[in-house]
Amino acid sequence: MATLVYVEDHEGEPVKGSLGVLSKAAKLGDDVVAVLCGSGVEGLGEQVGKYGAARVLVADDPALEAPLPQPRVDVLAKLVESEGFDTVLFGASVLTADVAAGLAARLDAGLNWDLIDLEERDGKLVGKRPALQDSVLLDVGWKSEPRLALIRSGTFEPVESGGTAEVAKVPVEVEDWSKQAVMLERAHEESEGPSIEDAEVIVAGGRGLGKPENFSLVEGLAKALGGAVAATRAVVDAGWYPYASQVGQTGKTVAPKLYIACGISGAIQHKVGMQNSGTIVAINKDPNAPIFEYSDLGVVGDVHEIVPKLTELVRAKRAT
Ligand SMILES: Cc1cc2nc3c(=O)[nH]c(=O)nc-3n(C[C@H](O)[C@H](O)[C@H](O)COP(=O)(O)OP(=O)(O)OC[C@H]3O[C@@H](n4cnc5c(N)ncnc54)[C@H](O)[C@@H]3O)c2cc1C
Repeated sequence: MATLVYVEDHEGEPVKGSLGVLSKAAKLGDDVVAVLCGSGVEGLGEQVGKYGAARVLVADDPALEAPLPQPRVDVLAKLVESEGFDTVLFGASVLTADVAAGLAARLDAGLNWDLIDLEERDGKLVGKRPALQDSVLLDVGWKSEPRLALIRSGTFEPVESGGTAEVAKVPVEVEDWSKQAVMLERAHEESEGPSIEDAEVIVAGGRGLGKPENFSLVEGLAKALGGAVAATRAVVDAGWYPYASQVGQTGKTVAPKLYIACGISGAIQHKVGMQNSGTIVAINKDPNAPIFEYSDLGVVGDVHEIVPKLTELVRAKRAT
């Protein structure tokens, strides 16, 4: 396999999900090349090279400053054609979903998306894709090359290989039609602490909190633990918390060491986004709530009583 892994960058760092995909690709075969596309990203090449790539190609050009898909499709299409990659892998994100779809159209290639595993079987690449609200896993393949795949976010952990990679700049030629879309404005959401994708501890809130103001309870506990706040779709849809915090089938997939679910019933669509967490703790007043079926520790009780006490205990413990 000649595999190209697209490594996305954000605020001067390679995105963790992309590095996880790179690590997985390196485990599958030794001919793995990573590509960075951006402006001022040359310095990231060495860092990316620690995750198992034999080579890191860097497309560094002002035309790639904005996170827009078409200029990236131009770069990737030329690389696939000139270097003969038979497989192109992406860690899923808003940007890469567009880049992968654009590249599939440009190269007339097959794209499998939302994969949660990849393996080589009898010399063929096979992907695993959850279906029917994540209740079954399908084996998926490709009829032709190049094979394109988007991997569900948070699926693979980045693992340093102990090796280094050759870093090389590649020319950037952007087609005229790719310059038609321009970025008019970028807004930066102010947030404290780690993002839910990177956090080792997540405190998540659901409808059991009763009202949006009560999210201060989960925020207080998350802060005491140095973690991030997540939410269910029910509260995101109700406008209590931003979509960026939603965990589950139509939100993010997370895998922290500790996941504390406060007032969350544990619907299958929520479970699929957090079931790979190390330790799951649930606080729910209903002893029959489905979340207790897959929690390591369950507390039957009222979040309004338990969460403040727990926060106090954590703060006191940390202060000693
Ligand atoms: C196609 C599709 C995609 C979906 N995608 C997602 C997704 O990505 N993420 C997601 O989360 N959901 C998703 N859902 C919605 C999902 O089915 C559930 O409706 C949702 O997860 C429920 O959220 P909740 O647990 O906050 O609310 P509820 O199901 O209403 O549960 C609230 C819980 O709080 C408990 N409670 C109430 N008061 C208290 C209290 N004072 N103290 C302690 N416990 C209390 C209750 O016993 C209950 O168990 C999706 C649904 C569909 C159909």
